[in-house]
Amino acid sequence: MALIVQKYGGTSVGDTERMKNVARRCIAAQKAGHDVVVVVSAMSGETNRLLKLVAQITDRPSEREQDVVVATGEQVSIGLVAMAIHAQRGKATSFMGHQVRILTDSTHAKARIKSIDGERIHAALKKKQIVVVAGFQGVDEAGNITTLGRGGSDTTAVALAAALKADACEIYTDVDGVYTTDPNVVPAARKLERISYEEMLELASVGAKVLQIRSVEFAMKYKVPLWVKSSFTQDPGTLVCEEDKSMEEVLVSGIAYDKNEAKITVWGVPDTPGVAAKVFGALDDKNIVVDLIVQNASKDGRTDLSFTVGKSDFVKASELVKKVAKSIKAEGVAVDDQIAKVSIVGVGMRNHSGVAARMFQILSKEGINIQMISTSEIKVSCVVHAKYTELAVRALHTAFGLDAVSASEATVSEAKALKGEKV
Ligand code: ADP
Ligand code: ASP
Ligand code: MG
Repeated sequence: MALIVQKYGGTSVGDTERMKNVARRCIAAQKAGHDVVVVVSAMSGETNRLLKLVAQITDRPSEREQDVVVATGEQVSIGLVAMAIHAQRGKATSFMGHQVRILTDSTHAKARIKSIDGERIHAALKKKQIVVVAGFQGVDEAGNITTLGRGGSDTTAVALAAALKADACEIYTDVDGVYTTDPNVVPAARKLERISYEEMLELASVGAKVLQIRSVEFAMKYKVPLWVKSSFTQDPGTLVCEEDKSMEEVLVSGIAYDKNEAKITVWGVPDTPGVAAKVFGALDDKNIVVDLIVQNASKDGRTDLSFTVGKSDFVKASELVKKVAKSIKAEGVAVDDQIAKVSIVGVGMRNHSGVAARMFQILSKEGINIQMISTSEIKVSCVVHAKYTELAVRALHTAFGLDAVSASEATVSEAKALKGEKV
């Protein structure tokens, strides 16, 4: 007998028929002899609908009150799923985040889980209940409702699996696993049987929304075996697990894109010590996360500083940076929200050189201009104009040998290309 945490995303609980399907699956897992904890998201579109209501009231919502509103989507789902289980003669109890004390910090809209009290869950499991927990939400020390950022139900599920020492965590979604890239953008994308925690972490951090990044961090830290599966099929899905030798042979395992960032450039910045600290210190004080940063070479004692922030922080960040720019006597600020970040990820990059150069060649062949570049040991990201996103992802997917049909042929040509041979 095992303890399994299953998570069903918005599409999987998108209507009441689908909730009945979820109920069937939970009951089947219990009948197979397992203790079952189910985490559910809001019905698809519901969180967006709630955010629109907020926007109709104000464009500067109190973050505390916004969390009060958006957390309701998951409350509806847990009640309905628990009742769907009852209707199929199963036993189930629903819990909101605060009822099982999913304790978070107080950073509304992107709170981080600090601890979970498993007592009530274990007590309910002992009584053979299926435990239905609301994803995405928690409570801070002061008792305020918090939410974990978009896609946060994944993190609720993995954090619960870690806290309860579950044997597996299964993320049920609308695709049947993790693919080489978003299968909804590139039809030739290939499903991966396994992917390492590290690669999945990079892919999630550069925009593959199939798993929220914090969920992969938890899985990696607590070694939770994490499956991504479809709630509509019996496909075994993709296992996110520890890296092994065979994974290193693949140069690029996945490609991701992110259209949710915007670029801010402070130009004519006096090139003196402490200037960057002032700009980024001010953003950090407001909990605004900065991603890519590029500083140009200085000319006549002045330089340009460009960086990206999430689109949800864009207005706040732009206003703040305009103020700081005045105080440091910069010449001006330019903003651009028509950008996309396209990234290639693979542990094989550790042992192969020339992968970044190859990526730049592929983009240049398509006439795509690169605005910013960032690299890590297993990732290369390029910021390009948003209109080129799909073109860039498809071109890279084919050139790096990831297309489903011609995978092996392309891998050979890619190896040749890297060695400078004609293909
Ligand atoms: P859920 O509501 O179940 O949490 P999400 O929409 O958050 O589902 O995540 C699933 C979506 O992630 C897929 O429909 C797909 O478009 C997208 N996606 C992006 N990159 C990948 C990838 N590499 N593999 C699979 N799906 C991906
Ligand atoms: N309902 C939340 C969202 O739409 C959380 C989730 O679905 O994971 O972002
Ligand atoms: Mg999701």
